[in-house]
Amino acid sequence: MDPIHDSARAIARDVNARAVSAAEIAETLIPRAARVDAELGAYRELTPELMRAQARRVDQRIADGDRLALAGVPVAIKDNMCLIGTHTTAGSKILEGFTAPYTATAVQRLLDAGALPIGKTNLDEFAMGSSGENSAFEKTKNPYDLERVPGGSSAGSAASVAGYAATVSLGSDTGGSIREPAAFCNVVGFKPTYGRVSRYGLIAFASSLDQIGPFARSVEDAALTYDTIAGKDPLDATSIDRAVEATADGLRDDLRGVRVGLVKEFALDALDAATRACYESAYADLERLGAELVDVTLPTAEYGLATYYLIAPAECSSNLARFDGVRYGLRVDGADVGEMYERTRAAGFGPEVKRRILIGTYALSSGYYDAYYLKAQKARTRIGEDFARAFERCDVIASPAASSPAFRFNAKSDPVTMYLMDYYTIPGSLAGLPSLSIPCGSVVPEDGTRAMPLGLQLTSPLFTERALLGVAHAYERATLHAEKLALPEICTT
Ligand code: GLN
Repeated sequence: MDPIHDSARAIARDVNARAVSAAEIAETLIPRAARVDAELGAYRELTPELMRAQARRVDQRIADGDRLALAGVPVAIKDNMCLIGTHTTAGSKILEGFTAPYTATAVQRLLDAGALPIGKTNLDEFAMGSSGENSAFEKTKNPYDLERVPGGSSAGSAASVAGYAATVSLGSDTGGSIREPAAFCNVVGFKPTYGRVSRYGLIAFASSLDQIGPFARSVEDAALTYDTIAGKDPLDATSIDRAVEATADGLRDDLRGVRVGLVKEFALDALDAATRACYESAYADLERLGAELVDVTLPTAEYGLATYYLIAPAECSSNLARFDGVRYGLRVDGADVGEMYERTRAAGFGPEVKRRILIGTYALSSGYYDAYYLKAQKARTRIGEDFARAFERCDVIASPAASSPAFRFNAKSDPVTMYLMDYYTIPGSLAGLPSLSIPCGSVVPEDGTRAMPLGLQLTSPLFTERALLGVAHAYERATLHAEKLALPEICTT
């Protein structure tokens, strides 16, 4: 029994069997997470007292005869989700000092299943970013190379799991924020179908896209976590009332009979030679496992980024209107209420958030609404239709998760080069599809000396989480890529 390196499945088994107590796991992970965090800056806040109190409750429940799916499993929570009594900043100065008065449904479901909350993880401000660098606080580092970004926006959720400072974590994905950092950090990151997981208690960025999902070091642990959090929630009207198929018992070991689509518009030519070779060998591995590779086309996918960068800012400009200095966090006083709003928002929001609020307000303004927002909505519909047509010919679509491995801090100074990181993740987000990133090898970047991980993105039709995780599991078990990369010493000792 090794609480730091064991899987969630193994920890829960041992805690349920009373081979180890949740309290012992908490006492092992608390100093461990603090030590790793000092290197990585993955956490905004560690929650040792909450973790200990929850461990006591879990041990009591098990003594009373309960069996819990995540008994004693240390979980980290992205700091845009509420956990009662903890600070919840969303990575923004405007929420500094705000304490959550209640707990998000997805988090509560983990707690009800026996998980132990280890802390709140750092993120790009309001989940806007692809590197973690937009956090108003510390810059989270990539455990595989401390001079590189962990990916974003769920930066700390990926880094904490990759650095063995949590067993699983929750992130949120609007246009790639689970899949991209998972790819950069050599872990599994899974975005379920839009509406599958309740967003009650998630600080909204773009409400027609936001989705909560797990990070884990294996597909099996991601499945176990997803099974715990999925399903209708009366507190979130957008959560879907449709039976959830369990995924953890549907994991397969071969791909016979599975048709894997390779998208013409996602051709690998734009990638550097080593990265491209890695993806070519990933596709060949899928075939070797019995999958049939088929060519598919998503003619409107190239409009994904432009569409997303109208819809997401439009929705964020509306969602972020609530941060006005009256109800939450920061207030900077002014001569009158108008000046107070202005000063609070000027001081509280960072440059990327301001940029998006401006773009979004513009796109929604009368006179421009039809030209921008409405047009983007039409493009979005087309993208969804393209996917539906592609899925007539295949069961799963495979592609890179990100355009490159993790880059160095400050490497992408203009916003558009940062936005381009999400070229592969955004079309699936606009279509609401379940999608994940799974480790598929590594390359040594041109400007580096260490091998950095790459992620294979697998995307499937709406509500086919069980089939998707099954395919990912077969690929993972046959290739074991995640285990082939050596972690820096801090993360293994
Ligand atoms: N990188 C994208 C953005 O900046 C996606 C972020 C996300 O999924 N939350 O908006």
